[in-house]
Parts: sequence; C-alpha cells; structure tokens
Amino acid sequence: MKGFEYLENEIQEWKNAGAYRPLTELESDQGARVVIDGREVIQLSSNNYLGLTTHPRVKRAALEAVERFGAGTGSVRTIAGTFSMHEAFERELAEFKHTEAALVFQSGFTANVGVLATILTEEDVVISDALNHASIIDGIRLTKAGRRIYQHSDMEDLEAALKETQNARTRLVVTDGVFSMDGDVALLPEIVELAEKYDALVMVDDAHASGVMGRNGRGTVDHFDLNGRVHIQVGTLSKAVGVLGGYVAGPAVLRDYLIHRARPFLFSTSHPPAVTAACQAAIQVLKEEPALIEKLWSNTRMFKEGLTKLGFNTGKSDTPITPVIVGQDALAMKFSDELLKEGVYAQGIAFPTVQRNQARVRTIVTAAHSMEDLETALEAFGRAGQKLGIL
Ligand code: PMP
Repeated sequence: MKGFEYLENEIQEWKNAGAYRPLTELESDQGARVVIDGREVIQLSSNNYLGLTTHPRVKRAALEAVERFGAGTGSVRTIAGTFSMHEAFERELAEFKHTEAALVFQSGFTANVGVLATILTEEDVVISDALNHASIIDGIRLTKAGRRIYQHSDMEDLEAALKETQNARTRLVVTDGVFSMDGDVALLPEIVELAEKYDALVMVDDAHASGVMGRNGRGTVDHFDLNGRVHIQVGTLSKAVGVLGGYVAGPAVLRDYLIHRARPFLFSTSHPPAVTAACQAAIQVLKEEPALIEKLWSNTRMFKEGLTKLGFNTGKSDTPITPVIVGQDALAMKFSDELLKEGVYAQGIAFPTVQRNQARVRTIVTAAHSMEDLETALEAFGRAGQKLGIL
C-alpha cells in the first residue's frame, strides 16, 4: 500500500528472521482445551489461572448485569458513568486487599500507566526493576520524574539507586510481584526493608500474583506478610480473576488524587456492568473456593517436575508460569508450531519481549487442567523436543 512501504519492509524483515506471528484465533471459550483451526488442543498459553473465565457464577453475574443495567455505561466515571456497582466493587476490592481504598482502571496496563504518569513530578525519582512489565516502562516514559533502572532483582543495585537519589522529594520503587516472562517472584521483603531504610515508597504490580499467591489470591504482599508496608498495589482483573480490568489498591488519598488526575481513568469510558458484576462474582469465588488455588499449585508442581525430568531448561520460575528456554528466536517458534501439531498450544516468545538468545516457549498451567491434560502435554513436549534436537 502506497505510503506504507516502510512498514511493509520492516514486517518483511521480521518474516525473514522467523519472528513474525499471525494472531491465533480461538473458536471456543477459554478453557483447559480450546479449538484452533477446528481442532481441540490443550491450552498452555492463557492467563486464566483459575479457569474463572467460564465459572458458572461469574458467567451468570455477567448475564444478569446485562439484563438489569444494559450493555454499556455511556460515559466516563467522572461524568455520568459511575454506577453504584463500580463503587461497591472498589470497596470490596479494598477490603479484600486490606487497603484503605481501591480504584478500578480499564486494564492492568492503564492502571500502571495511570499511577506512574500521574503521581510523580520532576522533583521525584522512580526506581524500577529492569524486567518490569511494558506498562510500567510506558508509565515511566510518561512521567517527568527522574528514573533509575536497577538490575533484575539485584538488591545491591537497588540499594545503590536509593543512595544515589537521596535528594529527591519522593522515591518510588516499582516492581512486578511475579515477573511475567520468567515466572520468578520479586524479593519483596528485601525491597520493602531497603525502601524503609531509605524512606522510599514501594509499588508492586501483582498482575500474575492476583488470584495466584497470598491468602485467597490476595497477591505477593499478603504472601510475604507485608500488609501495610507496601504503599501501592496494582492488580489485574484480566488474568486469574478471569474478566477484564486493573486496579490500584492503597491509601484513600491516592484514590482521590487518581480520580481527579489520572488521564486513562479520566478520559476513558467505565467498565460495562457485565464486566464489573463478573469481577465481583470472581472475587467472591476466590474467597469461597480456595480449592481452586490449591489445584492450580498442585498442577504447577506436577507440570514443572515433568518438564525438568524430561531435561528442559525451565529457568528459575517459582510460579505457574514455566518458561521452556531454547535460545534462538526461530527455534522457539518452530517448537511452538511443532507442539501445536502435537495438540498443545504453547506460544513462542522471542526478542524483544525477552532478551536475545533467551527465546522460549512459555507455559501457564491452570486449575482447569486435568492430570490427563498435563500428562498428554508433557508427552507432546518430549516428542517435539526430541524432534527439534532441544532434548
Ligand atoms: N502487568 C503485568 C506484569 C502483566 O503481565 C500484564 C498483562 N500482560 C499487565 C500488567 C497488564 O494487564 P492487563 O492485561 O489487565 O492490561
């Protein structure tokens, strides 16, 4: 297309490097098994950790909300789009997270951007882990604050960063709770101790820990017994909670400030009633069905052990995210294709999402997988790994 040749050229380069991926279409709901190209395959790529996307209570809540309150809200929250259910849900979330207040954003992405771009000025410094999620990086790009990136989970480097920035008004240390590509958990107790020693604030993005770690899935702060010592918790409603959205849990003054100043909150229409009602139901399920989280973790242990026994390099994950690291970008894509032929959908992930020579197939087991699903998947990994010379 005329005028877009430069984009076509770049896309061609990705294709030549084997790094071009068309979107994969699901022809079913998001379960332990999904239908792709008319075939049922085992899903190992979703963030639907607890299977809540299809939980009967969650679906029913969404349907009832549509019947009663309609399909959309017709306005941003600050004009005419705040329904009672939005406020009620935020109070429930705050209570769940043991914080004073909570505010829901349209996604986890916009929650991170909303906080980081809004509460810091040129007088402040944000101190961020090198492997933090793209939404944290983009939030930092939008703030006028100074920035200092510390080496991934390197507490000496974090301490050096805190020492270097003592003249700033506020230092905000920000970290993923669980790192999304490697599945390792942040050294939160150490981070909190250092922040307290140097009088800095701490923000945790618990996208992959919400519904997964801590009591009833309250996240890493609860997991490490750090309630009251982490100033800002971001979580998603799009992964284990099974629906859509992100939230910021913290002091009431933060909520108040974000309502008035956070641009993604101010200038984007509020969640449809079905989304909010489904999220409310999902949080109830977390409180009342802890067996789902236990199943997630027993599945995780079984699958990780199986991959390690087969001889794969599974990195240093401590969570249901298990990377199978193969090195070259093109090999990871081939491995993923081979697995799909074997009836397993596990997405290949390459540069720039992960560092060069660290390409991988990333797997995420869920509570919805049966033992049989996981055994079948492990056999497929064994055959595909041998065929491609990875094992
Ligand atoms: N933070 C992390 C660590 C994530 O992995 C993701 C999801 N990719 C997000 C934030 C964004 O969450 P959402 O999908 O709700 O926008």
